[in-house]
Amino acid sequence: MFISKSFIPILKNNPSEAKIKSHQLMLRVGMIKQSSAGIYSWLPLGFKVMKKIEKIVREEQDKIGVQEILMPTIQSSEIWKESGRYEDYGEEMLRIKDRQGREMLYGPTNEELVTDIFRSSIKSYKSLPQLLYHIQWKFRDEVRPRFGIMRCREFYMKDAYSFDISDEEAQFSYNKFFLSYLKTFNRLDLTAIPMAADTGPIGGNLSHEFIILAETGESKIFTDKRIFDLSIEGTKLEKKSLENMRKKFEVYYSVTDEKFNKQEFEKEVIEENRLITKGIEVGHIFYFGDKYSKPMGASVDLPGGKKDFIKMGSYGIGVSRLVGAIIEAKYDEKNEVMKWPISVAPYDVAIIPMINKNDTSALEKANNINLELNKNNIDAIIDDTDENFSSKIKKMNLIGAPYQIIIGKQTDGDLLEFKEVGKDSQKFKLKDIINLITEQKVKN
Ligand code: ATP
Ligand code: MG
Repeated sequence: MFISKSFIPILKNNPSEAKIKSHQLMLRVGMIKQSSAGIYSWLPLGFKVMKKIEKIVREEQDKIGVQEILMPTIQSSEIWKESGRYEDYGEEMLRIKDRQGREMLYGPTNEELVTDIFRSSIKSYKSLPQLLYHIQWKFRDEVRPRFGIMRCREFYMKDAYSFDISDEEAQFSYNKFFLSYLKTFNRLDLTAIPMAADTGPIGGNLSHEFIILAETGESKIFTDKRIFDLSIEGTKLEKKSLENMRKKFEVYYSVTDEKFNKQEFEKEVIEENRLITKGIEVGHIFYFGDKYSKPMGASVDLPGGKKDFIKMGSYGIGVSRLVGAIIEAKYDEKNEVMKWPISVAPYDVAIIPMINKNDTSALEKANNINLELNKNNIDAIIDDTDENFSSKIKKMNLIGAPYQIIIGKQTDGDLLEFKEVGKDSQKFKLKDIINLITEQKVKN
């Protein structure tokens, strides 16, 4: 892709309305454009990153056997009246009337809708467990939308729902998601910590928020540092193995401010292991038993002929918020250098030819390199403008392709100037560059 033909509306300076670095960078390189308060259009660069995140989220859901569906954004108020949440949800719910005067709403979440889908078809314990997910836009009329797509009104979420016969089986489902979430965030090159969370108005008895550390995060967190050293390697998709893995995490005190208790914290964690900081919630899992199935009458036949209400959990990941969360974690604001993890980078590599008005050979060379990269499934962006070298580098540092190939004075024969964004350059043959990038892509 040539930068001159791409829709990447870069700004010279940081936009003054943006208070945190992800919002600054996303506006600066034209990843998003606000259309009204808390509502955004996703432009090519931002959309590319979000789609790649979505793909990873999807793959990790598929791996634990969750089945993908797609529910609508607009829901009928009827099912929300059945669960009792139509009143409870309050002003965050966007309520709409259709031409017949029927009360509709833009879904802020989907427990009711998925319970309705489940109850209409699944009648026996023999069909359990059922794990369903979808990736869909949500709308919550937040009082104070802010920080760009981090806390907005319309956002893209993966939400999954589990249906089981008993508490024990439901915990098995819960633990599958627990593992799957840690794997998902690892692939995004993020360290997300599971934190015991308040079960709040949704109720129930088991809940974890997955939080990544960031000074600009909205959640205050209190944790035992040793939780960072835990590994999920070797965990199998089996009851015991999953249970042990979750227990390993639960040994360490790790909560957000809603659940924080000073005395407990100081008793359980010695001073040198205490970490009090802030973080961004990127995922949230809940077990809430029959909270919805009971009022909505979703029950199944048990072995022996009795019936019982199905035990449910729900599992969310903020797919669009993750774009911002990765920037918060990876953007070096001082030097204005962004390095996207290769797994979600908008481009794998930037080609920066030094173009001289009367000599197009550098551009031709860039073109040929690009063709070769494309043959190897490496996605490149070429800066074909005639701006000076330092402004080209500056621009590419913001766009954040993790690697750069510079075609200029240092290029000698088939040795190219190659660098990781923000680092020093080295001489590399194209063949070796292709191998290196391919290796990184395969690993992720
Ligand atoms: P928060 O505490 O941040 O308001 P929540 O607890 O209301 O979030 P959940 O219902 O658990 O959110 O939604 C699942 C995920 O969706 C969250 O972990 C978060 O990543 C994302 N999310 C929730 N609200 C927003 C929002 N207003 N803008 C962007 N992403 C959001
Ligand atoms: Mg939450």
